[in-house]
Amino acid sequence: MNFQYWNSEIEKMPRQDLEALQVKKLKAAVDQALKTPFYKERLTGAGIKSGDDIKTLSDLRKIPYTTKHDLRDGFPYGFLSIPKEEVVRLHASSGTTGAPTTIYFNAGDIKRWTGYVARCIYGTGCNKTDVFQNMITYGLFTGGLGFHQGGEEVGMLVIPSGSGNTTRQFRLMQDFGTTVVHATPSFLLHVESKMKEEGVSRDSIKLRKAFAGAEPYSEDTRRRIEELLKIDVYNSYGLSEMNGPGVAFECQCKSGLHLWEDGYIGEIIDPDTLEPLPDGQTGELVLTCLCREATPILRYRTRDLSSFYTDACACGRTHRRLRRITGRTDDMLIINGVNVFPSQIEEVVMAMKEVGNNYLIVLEKEGVLDRLIVKVEVGANVFMDDSRLLNALKEKIRKTLQAMITINPKVELHESGALPVSEGKAKRVQDNRPKDV
Ligand code: AMP
Ligand code: ZN
Repeated sequence: MNFQYWNSEIEKMPRQDLEALQVKKLKAAVDQALKTPFYKERLTGAGIKSGDDIKTLSDLRKIPYTTKHDLRDGFPYGFLSIPKEEVVRLHASSGTTGAPTTIYFNAGDIKRWTGYVARCIYGTGCNKTDVFQNMITYGLFTGGLGFHQGGEEVGMLVIPSGSGNTTRQFRLMQDFGTTVVHATPSFLLHVESKMKEEGVSRDSIKLRKAFAGAEPYSEDTRRRIEELLKIDVYNSYGLSEMNGPGVAFECQCKSGLHLWEDGYIGEIIDPDTLEPLPDGQTGELVLTCLCREATPILRYRTRDLSSFYTDACACGRTHRRLRRITGRTDDMLIINGVNVFPSQIEEVVMAMKEVGNNYLIVLEKEGVLDRLIVKVEVGANVFMDDSRLLNALKEKIRKTLQAMITINPKVELHESGALPVSEGKAKRVQDNRPKDV
């Protein structure tokens, strides 16, 4: 494979040098953090009075964790480390798990962030000859402007199409010869269904790549998108607390997401004991931002579940790779006492060829018991009037799910296009159980 590097010196830096660079940047980040009301109190409380108290990477452990709760408590300016007139932009998290949190950027922060996104895009083999349609929400959400800037930095022609309106998306793709798109995986599946419905032929578009992220998805979903649309799909991970996209991204090997360790320090911890775990073990990802001045955030508990690969990547980059994020510590469902992650259900349904591109998990209360209902769209080639075939499919899904999660679900089959589609992050779970029971 012909690998291309945006900054090969940094991307292939020997680990020892990379870690020395992290220590240097961590010292600066601590000094910067001490200028915020929140960290002044938090860090001095932990005996850290200046960046010089950090001597090695293991000194990171002296720094207390920061949580989403802390960020909300610090609203609006508890985490701001520079005079307000130096701030040039703010973004806010999409609030999937509650009230939004706000992140401020100065001009240098935006420049650095853009560099990381450009590095990700270029590392998948894109260049200035590409036409990039950014099919994601613009606005406070970082995925819009983040990818937009990164795309321009690479020199691609960027079409700021935003999300939704598939008819217009197809038109843009045909008119301008789009070769690369960015979208949520659920929107990409929707695009594929709509393409069939609207009679858009694959030959009329030049698409060859997609960046898919902002929400968890399984390897089977990736493969499904790749096969249906005949494109390469690269996993993109980021969060607004760490700028947005550009934190970790797949290279052309598509085996794990390189975390850019010159910009972020990653740790995996046990979410119960809060003890760091060795590479290879799954736990909660904790991130420290080394590349933003205006809003320093140290040891942020992302609540995302992942682990680090322990082997080297064939691309030659030295930055460690994260496994596909399977879910969040807080999206775990407890169904009649059994812990279930929505990603386990996705893994089962998306692996089946007869299943269409959308599904929904519904939870209800039946007497004292929880009832799990999995609503699944059937593929376009399955006829809704063939009841024998439908019953067999239902039974197959039910049995496979039960084997996977030990719970016996009710399976409902729906026509292609019948289940709700979200333009932003997909809402896959509808929990209708009364909250206080
Ligand atoms: P936001 O701050 O609104 O951009 O949301 C960030 C969150 O989206 C992350 O903490 C993850 O839970 C989720 N997320 C983003 N990218 C991915 C991805 N590639 N795979 C799984 N989850 C993702
Ligand atoms: Zn690689």
